[in-house]
Amino acid sequence: MGIRVLPPEVAVQIAAGEVVERPASVIKELVENSIDAGARTVRIEVEAGGRRLLRVSDDGCGVPADEVELAFHRHSTSKLAAAADLDHITTLGFRGEALASIAAVSRTTFATRAADEETGVLLRLEGGRVVTRQPVGRPPGTSVTVEDLFYNVPARRKFLRSETTERRRIDGWVTRYAMAYPHLRFTLLHDGRESFGSPGSGALRDVLVAVYGLETGAAMLELPDDPGGDPAIRVQGFVSPTSLHRANRSRITLFINGRWVQETRLTYAVIQAYHTLLPTGRYPVAVVMVTLPPQEVDVNVHPAKVEVRFRDEDVVFRAVQRAVRRAVTGQSPVPHAFAPSWPGSRPPGTRPPAWTARPVESEAAIQPSLLPSATATPTMPVLRVIGQVGATYIVSEGPDGIYLIDQHAAHERVLYEQMMAQREMGVASQRLLEPVAVELGPEAAGLVEAHVPTLRQLGLELELFGPNTILVRTLPAVLTRSDPAEVLAEVAEALEEGRSGVEEEIEQAVIRRVCKQAAVKAGQVLTREEMDGLVHSLERCTSPRTCPHGRPTMIHISVTQLAREFGRE
Ligand code: ADP
Ligand code: MG
Repeated sequence: MGIRVLPPEVAVQIAAGEVVERPASVIKELVENSIDAGARTVRIEVEAGGRRLLRVSDDGCGVPADEVELAFHRHSTSKLAAAADLDHITTLGFRGEALASIAAVSRTTFATRAADEETGVLLRLEGGRVVTRQPVGRPPGTSVTVEDLFYNVPARRKFLRSETTERRRIDGWVTRYAMAYPHLRFTLLHDGRESFGSPGSGALRDVLVAVYGLETGAAMLELPDDPGGDPAIRVQGFVSPTSLHRANRSRITLFINGRWVQETRLTYAVIQAYHTLLPTGRYPVAVVMVTLPPQEVDVNVHPAKVEVRFRDEDVVFRAVQRAVRRAVTGQSPVPHAFAPSWPGSRPPGTRPPAWTARPVESEAAIQPSLLPSATATPTMPVLRVIGQVGATYIVSEGPDGIYLIDQHAAHERVLYEQMMAQREMGVASQRLLEPVAVELGPEAAGLVEAHVPTLRQLGLELELFGPNTILVRTLPAVLTRSDPAEVLAEVAEALEEGRSGVEEEIEQAVIRRVCKQAAVKAGQVLTREEMDGLVHSLERCTSPRTCPHGRPTMIHISVTQLAREFGRE
């Protein structure tokens, strides 16, 4: 077979595959067109997971009668005139491919009326060819019906997933756009039944309630305004409190200039902002909208436009991380000893607290004097140490009840924040009297060698001494009593753990290890002064309520809970 130019309908089908991968991609493209058309209401109907029928109707500007056919030509768009316009795209669409591609692989009916025209037009296409065109009476706006998707591309049809999977993907797109455009009213129907609706009130929290339910929607924290941030970048949205987390990152939703983007480094910026505040392996729920000048971002990277490139990614990364961190550290609830949902009783199978403490006076009488006055946002109250239990927990009293502190976890937190604060300038270190040679496995030695400058910054001065042998010259000051070989083994493990991450992640992994090693252990008897010192250092931490691994450092039993337990209420 010689080389030949493909017939246009084959070429279109091939190209269509890039834009229209599955029913959900049709919904995405049609909803984007409705948004670009300035719609206030968008109605989405789906039958049989989209295999049979997909319909998107809007009350947007509509298409003028004499341009309707043109809308179905490839590379025809009303949103872009010249290549220079690619620099500052403010619409979701701009490639002029969606309608042509969708029509090429389905039976499409396009009904539209431009706001300033008397009647509308109804156009029917099959496999991209116009089969009928007629005038139609209808309100201004557009309704696109796509039936029998991939009827002429059996290979594609065969690879469609189950109806449930396709439905879920469609739901994903509709809920994402509902979040990105809270002032629009979205309605989604599957097989005639309404499965999702957003009120169009303009308040993102209302959409979150519609998407995630009342409880999650109400618990989410709004990102605060950042007067100190870069004025060109706006970061808005909601993130979950640390008490609310999920097993994977799929609930982290990011929009750049109103466009949903697939997991990027920015997802990591959100996760990073929760660093040490969530248990390992758990992820926040977040909806983050970044707005920045269109010239700062290139959206023309991928046909489905779910990837973007930034002129300066780091700036955006930091803005997101900062905004989320500020929202999250503003709060960090202490876990309660007993869930408040068990009024008047203990959880089944638990015993009442087994220690004695000085009776607590009424909350109001104590609170004001004990609250730290100078701190901008007090992250925990000032505590009075009562004693140690089981050489593991510190019992202390605050203005609002009893706090049980895990001494190891608390000390880890204190050391962690100290080291993180010193990191830029170089962590305090102690020179060994004699350098110690430590032999490691080849892989560990390679990793350590690759990170010598980073480790020096963390107080570990190392030198390659021979094959797989490392000379330790200094140790972080907090670890001077530790065995250098043990420290190095731990560090190598941390490097291994942080291996796939960025440098910052690796550094933090090392710091966490060092703190774990240096912190007082459970079972260690502490003097009164040591306990006081530890508790007061904890009070000065930014995130005193969790250890660097995300476990709680303290459990709080409120005055009310005590009263209830003793039957005083
Ligand atoms: P693009 O969105 O990239 O411009 P499309 O193929 O999706 O390309 O649409 C082509 C053109 O058809 C759009 O530029 C727009 O002018 C018009 N159009 C499509 N859908 C609608 C709609 N729902 N309301 C108004 N105009 C629409
Ligand atoms: Mg489009």
